[in-house]
Amino acid sequence: MFIKIGLVFAILPGFLLAEDADSLSRTKRQDDFQVDGFFETFGYMDVPKSSQGGHDAADRERAVREFQKMTGLPITGKVDKQTVTKMKSPRCGFQDVLRPSQRPGEINTNPKDVQLKPLSNVFKWPNNQVTWKVMGYTRQLGGASQRRSFINAFKKWSDVANINIREVGGGDADILIDYKRRDHYDGSPFDGRGRTLAHAFFPGSHDISGDTHFDDDEQWTLGTKEGTNLEIVAAHEFGHALGLGHSSNSKALMAPYYQGYDPDYKLLYDDIYRMTSLYGGRAATRPTSRPRVTTRRPRVTTRRPRATTKRPSTKPSICDLKFDSLFMNGDDRRIYAFRYRKIYRFESDKNGIEKSFTKVSRKVLTPRVPINTGAAVVDRYRRLYVFKGSKLFRYTRFRLDAGFPKRITIPFFQNVDAALEYNNVIYVFKDDKFSIWHENYSRSPPSGYPKPISSYWKGIPNNVEAALNINDGYTYFFKGTKYFKYNNRYQRTEYRKDKAPAWLGCGRAVPK
Ligand SMILES: [Zn+2]
Ligand SMILES: [Zn+2]
Repeated sequence: MFIKIGLVFAILPGFLLAEDADSLSRTKRQDDFQVDGFFETFGYMDVPKSSQGGHDAADRERAVREFQKMTGLPITGKVDKQTVTKMKSPRCGFQDVLRPSQRPGEINTNPKDVQLKPLSNVFKWPNNQVTWKVMGYTRQLGGASQRRSFINAFKKWSDVANINIREVGGGDADILIDYKRRDHYDGSPFDGRGRTLAHAFFPGSHDISGDTHFDDDEQWTLGTKEGTNLEIVAAHEFGHALGLGHSSNSKALMAPYYQGYDPDYKLLYDDIYRMTSLYGGRAATRPTSRPRVTTRRPRVTTRRPRATTKRPSTKPSICDLKFDSLFMNGDDRRIYAFRYRKIYRFESDKNGIEKSFTKVSRKVLTPRVPINTGAAVVDRYRRLYVFKGSKLFRYTRFRLDAGFPKRITIPFFQNVDAALEYNNVIYVFKDDKFSIWHENYSRSPPSGYPKPISSYWKGIPNNVEAALNINDGYTYFFKGTKYFKYNNRYQRTEYRKDKAPAWLGCGRAVPK
């Protein structure tokens, strides 16, 4: 089974076979022929045993429907203009779905119910260790910048999944990176400029397993909309080299089609979910040296507030403010705190709460917002999620999105303590555990989660009250009158300090 499927991937017929063999006139029949070749290449159809063998209309229609479903097109079952345009767009050379003959059970021909049989995550590198090496660079770009792109592209995955990816200089490596043209004798010829951009092979024990080839007839670029961005395509191909098939979510990095240049391209939750299902979350076990926990005690404040003759105010001082949850708003880049039924906004240029912005939350977030929020976090689309008990609220520009609040069905994500966003991943904390989270998780947290907080966030206590990442290289956790500053890069807690001076503007101003 293992070897068989491995070989199948090594024998992907390309476009050229279909086009060169084509002696038909430039009629619709030629299009049909190419269409079949396309579907054979990407797994939607079996490759006929003899050259006379063809496909019948029903089989072609099933293949079209599957392709449309895979790529997010309207499912018409017809090779319409939109579908042909999609087929001819630049894409990855990797097969999308299991060939009909490899699928377990009956082939689904019900037009109402298109079921995809993507290549599931089965193959992975043993011991979560993999090495790579560049065999050759393209002349179109400097070698150093290509190497840097490959490092960055691998890091997208090693940032989220528990896999140790290492570049090696000499000797053998698992993933050999190279540029090729046309037929380069691995069963998957390239096709000149356009269409197929690159391909890679699944993990395994074959010589070619993990190898990643870029079509040198493409215009490879970095940092520009012109041509095809090498790093983004590399990140996609390395997804295959690490064990992922294509995603039917057209926004995912692992979608088959190149989505254009995005200087800030990121993994989608779908990519993260699938890679962490294969290797576990990065946070689970970090094989690097143990980060040092700073045990420095917070400085004891000896100066007590001077007693005055004034009666103590019945109102609690702002200096005692606790946070139910904190978030950094995507639109104004300001930090906000929820506490009971109020919302506070922090000063942008100094410590403390903005005096004129202490409001009843439901006057700010409309039409409704819970009191005593459990956690709040903003995702990369600037949507604010608020967790409260078993309910999830989502806001866009402080307006509740349609369909919310929603019930949180996964028990771990009910009654959470805190949430934060880091590198496009949302982390949720509860009691002594944490997990990555996405709105679309419906059955369980990804494999390997939840994990003990202590297994990754060294020095961070259990039962945190609020958490925040403000993209300054640190993550802040709050508990009682203290806060904890966690260094994202070195993965260690820098210090634990009193919250009031650094965050509430009480006493001498100190840096956070
Ligand atoms: Zn691909
Ligand atoms: Zn190749």
